Amino acid sequence: MSKSMLIENGVVIDGAGNKPFRASVLIENGKIAAVGADADARAQQEQRAERLDVQGMTIMPGLIDVHCHLSFDDAGSNNELFHHRRNGLSAIISSYNARKLLRAGVTGCVDPDSTFENMTDVRDAIDANIIQGPRIACGSYALITTVGGTAGRLISDEGVSGYYKVVKTKDEIVAEVRRQVKNGTDWIKVHVTGIVPRQAHKGEMCVWTDDELKILCDTAHDLDTPVMAHCRGADPTYRAAQAGFDLIAHASGMDDRALGAIVDKKIPIVPAFTFQANVVDFGEKLGTDKSLIAHFEREITDSIDTMTHAYKAGVPLLSGSESGFKIVPYGEWHYREMEVFVRYFGLTNLEAIQCATQQSAVGLRLKGKTGEISKGFLADIICVDGDPSQDVTVLGQPGKIKHVMVGGRLMDLSDLPERGHISGWRVAALTDGTSLTREFAFSGTGKASPSLYIEELH
Ligand SMILES: [Zn+2]
Repeated sequence: MSKSMLIENGVVIDGAGNKPFRASVLIENGKIAAVGADADARAQQEQRAERLDVQGMTIMPGLIDVHCHLSFDDAGSNNELFHHRRNGLSAIISSYNARKLLRAGVTGCVDPDSTFENMTDVRDAIDANIIQGPRIACGSYALITTVGGTAGRLISDEGVSGYYKVVKTKDEIVAEVRRQVKNGTDWIKVHVTGIVPRQAHKGEMCVWTDDELKILCDTAHDLDTPVMAHCRGADPTYRAAQAGFDLIAHASGMDDRALGAIVDKKIPIVPAFTFQANVVDFGEKLGTDKSLIAHFEREITDSIDTMTHAYKAGVPLLSGSESGFKIVPYGEWHYREMEVFVRYFGLTNLEAIQCATQQSAVGLRLKGKTGEISKGFLADIICVDGDPSQDVTVLGQPGKIKHVMVGGRLMDLSDLPERGHISGWRVAALTDGTSLTREFAFSGTGKASPSLYIEELH
């Protein structure tokens, strides 16, 4: 790696919400050493600075995806995730998926929970430059009660499978938090809410006592480790905020009391509505049932008032794609949460970019250290052929991300080798959920709906 590099002739979007401006950016020792005239002057003095001409491009902080499961490998079902995956292979494939994120302009990724706790290893391998990938902050196993999370009775009564670990007593909660911290987790992830199959019509319910949530947060905080919640609904969001959670994923369906608690403590929210938006916009194409499409659309539209209120009151809205499932495959939709923020919450393109860069750095536990094109920040930078300040969706168009730099190091963006088949990795399905009755077989009607069930949502 060259010690210094001047990125010149581009227009800077700084990620701090300022209007785009024409400026050079000088990188030294993995950090942004200077921006603008100072950068040009110092490069001139040094002579030895390598130069990267980005004429006609935008220079901006790399995207930070605060909700992405690299080990899930675009799973089609929880059955696949819980029962068909292997430890070593899962880590290796995560590293392949990490490279897809780089090609989509993602330089930072928060992976809340992973199969086999793989992500601490993947993170360390990336940090040690063994493999290339975005900067990662990760959780290990999501903590879950015996009630479970969003997978209904697929959640075991005890132990570990897939991405979770069941904790049954306060002692077990404390011991598991301490074990995860010892093993190097950056975040403790908790499924605060779950679906009780027989009460599914009520939506997700809080599946912990206030006491348990408080003990969990206190134990993690004592070890300087933040806690993030999977949480939907008014009462659970209020209780998570009161217990001391540091970040809340989803937070849909808030009422005034929940919103008040979030605003009071300025707890960052990752709506991760990209998943829902994909079902809304493309569900029909996928053959998704109309009532399900409407259900997902309501989750977004019912949250417009609370999310915009929270944003205006200074609550950080972070960008998260929930990539790792077939409906949000890696490398495709990481920009899309910005589009949701613009389309539904009325943010400007620059505000949405600020959410996905400067603000989302809190997910990496690097607030004020990355996510901005400013002197002293880590050189996590992308160069884009186009102007995302006019239209953030340019960041999702193929071929528009021209350069990606993590910690001042230019990443390899060449085409990834094509993947082949791995036996036993996927759950094979002969049909998409439809029974081949004689009536169906001989009726001559078209394709049936694919099976996309609410309880499969993670
Ligand atoms: Zn998730």
